[in-house]
Amino acid sequence: MSLDWISRAERLDALPPYVFARLDELKVRAREQGLDLIDLGMGNPDGAAPQPVIDAAIAALQNPHNHGYPPFEGTASFRQAITTWYQRCYGVELNPDSEALPLIGSKEGLGHLALAYVNPGDVVLVPTPSYPAHFRGPLIAGAKIHPIHLTAEQNWLIDLSTIPEAVAKQAKILYFNYPNNPTTATAPREFYEEVVKFARHYEILLVHDLCYAELAFDGYQPTSLLEIPGAKEIGIEFHTLSKTYNMAGWRVGFVVGNSDVIQGLRTLKTNLDYGIFSAIQKAAETALQLPDEYIQDVQQRYSTRRDFLIEGLGKLGWKISPSKATMYLWIKTPPGQGSTEFALDVLQQTGVVITPGNAFGEAGEGYVRISLIADCDRLGEVLRRFRQAGISYQ
Ligand SMILES: *Cc1c(COP(=O)(O)O)cnc(C)c1O
Repeated sequence: MSLDWISRAERLDALPPYVFARLDELKVRAREQGLDLIDLGMGNPDGAAPQPVIDAAIAALQNPHNHGYPPFEGTASFRQAITTWYQRCYGVELNPDSEALPLIGSKEGLGHLALAYVNPGDVVLVPTPSYPAHFRGPLIAGAKIHPIHLTAEQNWLIDLSTIPEAVAKQAKILYFNYPNNPTTATAPREFYEEVVKFARHYEILLVHDLCYAELAFDGYQPTSLLEIPGAKEIGIEFHTLSKTYNMAGWRVGFVVGNSDVIQGLRTLKTNLDYGIFSAIQKAAETALQLPDEYIQDVQQRYSTRRDFLIEGLGKLGWKISPSKATMYLWIKTPPGQGSTEFALDVLQQTGVVITPGNAFGEAGEGYVRISLIADCDRLGEVLRRFRQAGISYQ
């Protein structure tokens, strides 16, 4: 029932329409018709969390101390596990009390960070395409977004020289993310050095999203922003347990870096939430301590799927170079077809759900993202359906 005497807050009007809505509608209709949908739309890993993580959660549930409100700032042992993990993976020293904060998933933190730091009218630099929370959070806070256009020609790397001097001088925050969702691009260490230099010069807070830290293949090791000298003075970095550890539904992630900024985010969150259920923090702690073999298995799983799908799509006309990281393929739509049109066409003709690139911002137009969240049997079925329906790149 619609209420005519109350209107939504204006901050909601700032949000661009949700491209997924039409796709969702069609998904519902297809399911109602009994169609066997293959959903490669979201970045939602298939399968359960590792058994030691599940065991740790069950054990923690048996302890009555874990059932009350958790500490606002997260449990001391999870924060310690975070900083130990950072030391082991990147050789970066962090103070577990002031430079690490557990989050109810990194999306929560990315959004709330904007509420803690952005006043209406503040300029925030955000690449396009990008993960929606990187621009939707600032928009809710009333930011004036300056989009940085990423292009295939630049390997989807931010070209700082395209940012006008006047904009750089005004800008308060730069959100960025490598290995990148949705483009699968990776950034060399020199890129991070340049960004740190730029941010220090213009006094811009760097917000780096390293949520694909471990989903890297063929020996490639992603760089942490915090490895760069001086980065901690102007930057923070977000992580999630959703992807590597199949824990997307558990809602747990964390942020590390500059203690002032972390304190600001914590102050806001103290007024909005109570943090993460302690039993889940215990499980997350266990995940960060898993042996390297677990990570290698995950990497193997995704790179096998990547190679399988690249080969199959290759036979249908797509030339795709293997990405060094993430759990996606980012592919061009056939000439003459827009992102939304192509994604809807594929869904209607084959029951396969893929994401139109423009869901990640206007510069994603002309591309679609395919998540590698099904095993090779299912991906083989995707290719069969594509062949049957005549879906190809030509
Ligand atoms: C999946 C994803 C996240 C994860 O968010 P959670 O809220 O931790 O599940 C964050 N950033 C990017 C770029 C992602 O792709």
